Amino acid sequence: MVYQLIYHSRFSSAAQGPSATIRNILSRSQANNFRDGITGFLIFDKSSFVQILEGDEAAVLETYDRIGSDRRHSQLTVIDSRQVGQRAFPDWAMGGYVRSPESADVYARHSPSEGFDPRALTADAVVALAQDLLAFEQARLSQRILDA
Ligand code: FAD
Repeated sequence: MVYQLIYHSRFSSAAQGPSATIRNILSRSQANNFRDGITGFLIFDKSSFVQILEGDEAAVLETYDRIGSDRRHSQLTVIDSRQVGQRAFPDWAMGGYVRSPESADVYARHSPSEGFDPRALTADAVVALAQDLLAFEQARLSQRILDA
């Protein structure tokens, strides 16, 4: 079994701006999570984060504690924490997706409301959305390579 924790939070405007902030968060997360055996996915839109953390329970809780005191976001709310049979993102120390208009259809498949409101999503919907965004991004990358 693997422990999975899913939460959402509000982006606090950072001095660096959103793109640089996400890049920094992802690169630090990937290094730390690789060390700690944690995998997962982080979704960002202009005002919210939703993150899936999975791994050993103690390691995930310790990481979540650290994330909780990060001033780049606030109002952290756990959607669910649970034991699951297997990792949903076994190859990703932390995958990430920044919402863009091209992926509107992917969001529409999972979101009950117009726009993106993580408060309206269940844990299973977050995982399914993140897996679809990963597939979307990988297909887009393959297409770019074929077109080059
Ligand atoms: P350092 O990177 O050296 O950071 C030291 C301190 O400075 C920390 O308190 C950190 O919060 C703060 N800090 C660093 N850079 C900035 C900055 N640009 N602006 C403001 N404060 C800053 N960490 C993980 O390890 N795994 C994750 O999966 C993960 N996910 C995250 C998701 C979100 C939405 C956010 C906002 C942060 C996430 N982080 C994650 C980062 C985490 O909050 C800590 O910043 C990080 O784990 C600290 O790494 P470190 O101990 O190597 O210290």
